[in-house]
Amino acid sequence: MARVYNWQIGREMSYWYPEHRPQKQFAAVFDTNKCIACQTCTLACKTTWTSGRGQEYMLWNNVESKPYGSYPLAWDLNLLKKLDGGKWNGSRYEGQTIFESAEAGERVLGWRPESQDYAYPNVGEDDCAGQVDAGAYMNSPHMAWFFYLARICNHCTHPACLASCPRGSIYKRPEDGIVLVDQSRCRGYQECVKACPYKKVFFNPMTGTSEKCIACYPKIEQGIQPQCFVNCIGKIRMAGFINKPESARPDNPIDYLVHIKKVALPLYPQFGLEPNVYYIPPIHVPTSFTRQMFGPGVDAAVKTYRNAKNDPDLAALLCLFGSSEMVMPQFRRQGDMVSGIDAQGNTVVRVPMNEPVHVRPAYDRLYQIQRTNCP
Ligand code: SF4
Ligand code: SF4
Repeated sequence: MARVYNWQIGREMSYWYPEHRPQKQFAAVFDTNKCIACQTCTLACKTTWTSGRGQEYMLWNNVESKPYGSYPLAWDLNLLKKLDGGKWNGSRYEGQTIFESAEAGERVLGWRPESQDYAYPNVGEDDCAGQVDAGAYMNSPHMAWFFYLARICNHCTHPACLASCPRGSIYKRPEDGIVLVDQSRCRGYQECVKACPYKKVFFNPMTGTSEKCIACYPKIEQGIQPQCFVNCIGKIRMAGFINKPESARPDNPIDYLVHIKKVALPLYPQFGLEPNVYYIPPIHVPTSFTRQMFGPGVDAAVKTYRNAKNDPDLAALLCLFGSSEMVMPQFRRQGDMVSGIDAQGNTVVRVPMNEPVHVRPAYDRLYQIQRTNCP
């Protein structure tokens, strides 16, 4: 075992390979407050990459209703129970990661789902937490809650799938940190399926190999955001590249949200993988729940997000989500306009922070017709 640094848990930790960060790291921010669980992202991915034989139950992107939704079944609960973690001291995690609590002879603490666990991708959909007592909903509509969690591979900095593969079939691209399975090397041992705590590697019984989200790398190479991002109806997603905290750039959207404003947080940082999809936590959910899911920064993140209307740069950046299909490694606010800038320095989109409202008369004199209130 080597020693690597994981800034998300504020300390060094044990990992199978020495630390080897890519030149650039693909990353994303998802705003859970905007997701409507329409599953357009799920279908955009499915029709692009996993419509073949053996891929019937394979969802590289899925959206689940928390707290009861999970795909595959109980993916997070199973590991949380085994890990016996949760000991944070401020921003330092003092429990064990899945690498540090691996059993003798194993590289990672994991579990392999049964095929039945993949059979119910919509389990728990829109189910509330807690009991709604008779009449309670009349007085206190916020006693019961749920929220939608969109999930893809996190293209982790310290991937468990990569660490666990006895064939060395999984690799992290040096140019963008995207994690891929070399299909020609894979022999289908499924150690990666067992090891990935997010259960984002899938076994294809027809090909006998493991397959996973590829971050639509042919698009990323062209400076275009992945399919699940550009098709997102709720405009909850922003793709880009993240720097280490000490080299965070305030004009980089991902750095700004993750390192500077700390409003976007990793999913289960205590697992120890330094995952690179970051979530703006749901602001209506008790933080006693979301703290376990997104770490100790949740309370501050919710406060910052609630205050966004008084924070022009943050408000501007939130307007840029879903505004262009291009990757925007840079943003700039000028007055109440915000620009997204591509890797070549070209402005690819300009968005107003306040949309003008046009009120049209019901009767259009020019065309002599009555209009409905459709836009
Ligand atoms: S397309 Fe966007 S809004 Fe719809 S479910 Fe997916 S992440 Fe949520
Ligand atoms: S989320 Fe899972 S499959 Fe993706 S890089 Fe991390 S460990 Fe590997």
